[in-house]
Amino acid sequence: MKVSIFGTGYVGLATGTCLSEIGHDVTCLDVDETRIESLKQGRLPIYEPGLAPMVARNSGDGRLHFTTDAASALEGAEIVFIAVGTPPDEDGSADLQYVLTVAATIGANLRSSTIVVNKSTVPVGTARLVEEAIAGELTRRGVEIDFEVVSNPEFLKEGDAVNDCMRPDRIVIGAATQAAVDKLKRLYAPFVRNHDRFVVMDVRSAELTKYAANAMLATKISFMNEIANIAERVGADVEKVRQGIGSDPRIGWQFIYPGVGYGGSCFPKDIQALARTARQHDYEARLIEAVEDVNQRQKGHLFELILRHYGDRISGRTFALWGLAFKPNTDDMRAASSRRLIDQLWQAGARVRAYDPEAMSEARRIYGERAGLVLCDSMEEALGGADALAVVTEWRQFRSPDLTALRALGDAVVFDGRNVYDPAELEQAGIAYYGIGRGRSL
Ligand code: NAD
Repeated sequence: MKVSIFGTGYVGLATGTCLSEIGHDVTCLDVDETRIESLKQGRLPIYEPGLAPMVARNSGDGRLHFTTDAASALEGAEIVFIAVGTPPDEDGSADLQYVLTVAATIGANLRSSTIVVNKSTVPVGTARLVEEAIAGELTRRGVEIDFEVVSNPEFLKEGDAVNDCMRPDRIVIGAATQAAVDKLKRLYAPFVRNHDRFVVMDVRSAELTKYAANAMLATKISFMNEIANIAERVGADVEKVRQGIGSDPRIGWQFIYPGVGYGGSCFPKDIQALARTARQHDYEARLIEAVEDVNQRQKGHLFELILRHYGDRISGRTFALWGLAFKPNTDDMRAASSRRLIDQLWQAGARVRAYDPEAMSEARRIYGERAGLVLCDSMEEALGGADALAVVTEWRQFRSPDLTALRALGDAVVFDGRNVYDPAELEQAGIAYYGIGRGRSL
């Protein structure tokens, strides 16, 4: 099938590449010319494991194309995806300007009938707005072209996007007609050969499904952070508690890791947008609002532990920071907890030496050359001349550190924002240890 995708970010690029991998003819479009130019030259604008060789292979085979030209991207496209960002507006609701701009561009350039599939995470009712924007442009041009707007929310995880696209656990299709459902099923069929994983529903339910999924996952994280904060106060170790509850299949092991809060481009904005949607419908979604409040507080927790250790003696100290991305296996620093900690340390007069395996160029883009921040080339270099270590992202390479190097830190203290270390082991090595919800650290 001939497919075009508007928006070549984490979702658009991963989706487009995987669709080309199973034989479709895919054109990825973006308004960012630099991004498209670098993709044409085989350079990826984002880090996503396994994606680069797939892009190279499918571009080389002529099934994956990159462009900034909407008319050529739409020519003959049987399916057109919208995969642009939906960042939070000032009041927390989803900002639909990029989605609606794409809709208008489609309306302005469409020449033959198509199905417009919205993959961006959007509030209930957006499909209707997209439809109106496209129809408005067609009317303005004085042409009549058949099209249908379908909701197909995306569930891929950054850091495992290729796997999630190639082996989805479900494909939600929200559509008004059987013809659209059949077309999408044909598009995706090679991904679900061993058993049917399509979940078909109406458009509005599909739109809400994405928010419900993210809200449930964020709730698990905030819930566990609440338990961690209670554990810290009552002298219990939340890591033991975690192991004591995860084996219950009704609870499960995933997403019950305490830490310094969730970040990234999805959870924070989607939870706020869902709460906002509820309020717009005269409903106060108390649980959802609390999930975000708890997370906001948790993002400041590592600094609270630092304050607990140092009191008012933070100024002039240097902190090594391991992990800048909002989670491992990505370079994405949007709403990352590291950014809050860096700001808090700066405000307290401290300096930061930071290292992340993949997010260094993103950090350079965000912070540039700044007094009080040294961006280091390795985890070891970050420790050089530092007084303390703060671990913010649980990258695998941080898990078995050289304890002698940690002991050599100016103040020999580690603030473990992801509970990756064994407190007893560090303390035996003469290193002061602070974790999340580990009552021993009181
Ligand atoms: P992103 O910011 O990585 O990429 C968006 C891209 O859209 C950018 O390259 C931008 O230049 C481009 N763009 C903006 N306006 C455009 C226009 N008018 N025409 C063409 N391209 C345009 O965003 P993302 O992380 O891929 O997320 C996209 C959507 O998918 C969001 O709604 C997000 O909530 C949702 N989502 C994201 C993830 C994820 O893990 N990142 C997972 C599931 C769903």
